[in-house]
Amino acid sequence: MKIAVAEGDGIGKEVVPPCIDVLELLLEDVEFITVEIGYAKWMREGLPITEEDIELIKQADCMLAGAVTSVPGHSVVVRLRKAFDLFANLRPFTSYALTPYGLDLIMIRENLEGLYFGKEELSPDRAVTERVITRSNTERLATFASALEGVEMVTIVHKANVLKSDVLFRDVCARVLQKHGVRYNEMYVDAAAYNLIKHPDKFSCILTSNLFGDILSDEAAALVGSLGLCPSANIGPDFAVFEPIHGSAPDLAGTGRANPIGAILSAKMLLEWSGQYDKAALIDASVRQTLKNGIMTPDLGGKSSTADVAHEIVRIIEG
Ligand code: ATP
Repeated sequence: MKIAVAEGDGIGKEVVPPCIDVLELLLEDVEFITVEIGYAKWMREGLPITEEDIELIKQADCMLAGAVTSVPGHSVVVRLRKAFDLFANLRPFTSYALTPYGLDLIMIRENLEGLYFGKEELSPDRAVTERVITRSNTERLATFASALEGVEMVTIVHKANVLKSDVLFRDVCARVLQKHGVRYNEMYVDAAAYNLIKHPDKFSCILTSNLFGDILSDEAAALVGSLGLCPSANIGPDFAVFEPIHGSAPDLAGTGRANPIGAILSAKMLLEWSGQYDKAALIDASVRQTLKNGIMTPDLGGKSSTADVAHEIVRIIEG
């Protein structure tokens, strides 16, 4: 298996290397293709990601990435999503009994359209951002949601009472879920933000558009205890990019306080995507045991460092 690896910026350089250790331990036949993307490249070459980088990444089966610090006028994440047609962003949130909120939720965020489609105008006195939702993209997103295992109920989150684009989003999602015999309900995004805190146990899977998924993800991350705990997968028809949901957290870079679990669980999602469920389960079990052992970074109230947590996870996997 060939995996493109980009550490990115800030704490990406600290949380991605432990993922390599874990994957090297679990995979017999793996080749890592190192790609440099991010802030330093932008400073040097004027672009945070180049065409050559995209070509290099295409030589791999999938990619593992750390976060990239935003640079003016360029979004590396959006570039990757477009280049590899990564239409679905899958974000599981599990509270591991670390907080009083019993959240066990999968968020499926649309990844290419909505307000992040890129149709914008900015002039001194007026700015416009177009919100684009298409039937074909929504259909494949809802079809993807229908195929997920272990989901009891899909909640379509939208604002169709105000936004016409969400009338299409809601109706297409509902029709596809119904066609596949998947139980679903629907909720306005403001009600979803409220209910996530009031009744977190009522959610099994949220299916939503790009911006709403972005915002609700950070809320869900707070409910499970930390942004640093949460992994994600950007899925396309034949390629996927795995990354923790957090950013480059410049405030934490170099302090040894970054939580590596979101990144390591992203490596677990990579193994699941490639059908290696037994190995993915080993990562899951070792993360749970590490947390049970109280080996945690300060964001979770612990005193351990990034390296302590990573070593404990590796130690448990090694058995
Ligand atoms: P960017 O602009 O790259 O998105 P940001 O600082 O705006 O960076 P995040 O990187 O997501 O956004 O960080 C938000 C806050 O969450 C950070 O200040 C940090 O305190 C916390 N945080 C993020 N990731 C982690 C992590 N892995 N471990 C611990 N705390 C984290």
